[in-house]
Amino acid sequence: MAKPVMAIAEQRNGIFRKATYEVVSEGRRLADQLGTELVAVLLGSGIEGLSQQLAHYGANKVLMGDNEIFKNYSSEGYTKTILEAVKKVDPEIILLPASTFGKDLGPRLAAHLGVGLATDCVKLRLENGKLRAIRPMYAGKVLAEHELLAKPQIVSLRPNNFPALSPDASKTATIEPLNVPISAGDLRAVVKEFVSGEGGKVELTEANIIVSGGRGMKGPENFKILEELAAVLGAAVGASRSAVDAGWRPHSDQVGQTGKTVSPNLYIACGISGAIQHLAGMSSSKCIVAINKDPEAPIFQRADYGIVGDLFEVVPRLTEEFKKIIEK
Ligand SMILES: Cc1cc2nc3c(=O)[nH]c(=O)nc-3n(C[C@H](O)[C@H](O)[C@H](O)COP(=O)(O)OP(=O)(O)OC[C@H]3O[C@@H](n4cnc5c(N)ncnc54)[C@H](O)[C@@H]3O)c2cc1C
Repeated sequence: MAKPVMAIAEQRNGIFRKATYEVVSEGRRLADQLGTELVAVLLGSGIEGLSQQLAHYGANKVLMGDNEIFKNYSSEGYTKTILEAVKKVDPEIILLPASTFGKDLGPRLAAHLGVGLATDCVKLRLENGKLRAIRPMYAGKVLAEHELLAKPQIVSLRPNNFPALSPDASKTATIEPLNVPISAGDLRAVVKEFVSGEGGKVELTEANIIVSGGRGMKGPENFKILEELAAVLGAAVGASRSAVDAGWRPHSDQVGQTGKTVSPNLYIACGISGAIQHLAGMSSSKCIVAINKDPEAPIFQRADYGIVGDLFEVVPRLTEEFKKIIEK
């Protein structure tokens, strides 16, 4: 049997991030094609109840590090423990989410193991049992296909790109404790607290629908009309860098090369011209709708649907129409 596939789970406060289900599901698909088992690694504090959820998405085995020290993510603690898991399992492939967590952890694991890493992949395929990782480069202008020569092959997966399997509650996994001696003194940096944004806000990278505003919004007060549309659609509100640089929105809302990479099912760009640095963060959205009064705006070249018009007229009308449809 081929060596196992390993999937690293990400949870916060005892709740899995959506990307975890995607990573575990993709791990299951690869393990099936390779005819091998899928081992998930789960670290946290008080997380015993969580491990079987990973089985529902296809993990055969869960290596669980349940320790007060893992209450919050720590670069050194997680890296040291996961390296032990890697030693134990000797996986062929390691998958992790390309979230902030995976962006910190992936390179550390690769450096310690002396292997390559393909980050922010949007597609994976196997060719003669070898993994091919497809990832956008040059701000999304090209898709590059990578072959990682050293083993294990580590890849991080862009959230919202890999469909999660439907969970099957009848599936169970073997749970094994992962006891690696770590004390507070081993950690040079400690995350004391996570301060989340406004309560109830949908996280951009996990959102299925995003309504974004750019310089065309003309001022911070006008984002109210996007928030109203977002509330009707259950969407998150994003922004271009111009809107963020102007101080209209917090940096955490910025979509793009120097902001967040998002892949929602629907991205509605309002008053955004479509600069390459903005497209870098949202062009893998499944359906792009652009509202812009300039018919020559570059965003229309990427949009699936374009509305040429004044957003201050178009957005409230869309909100009204969506409200009517949803209320039906
Ligand atoms: C190194 C680097 C990194 C960068 N990173 C990012 C990044 O992460 N994210 C990002 O977004 N940008 C980034 N940028 C900036 C990027 O180049 C653009 O400047 C920026 O995206 C433009 O924002 P915008 O589309 O909101 O503004 P503009 O380009 O000014 O476009 C505003 C648009 O609004 C339209 N408009 C105006 N009024 C209305 C109206 N009433 N109704 C409808 N439409 C209207 C206009 O026709 C225009 O197309 C980066 C730049 C650099 C150099």
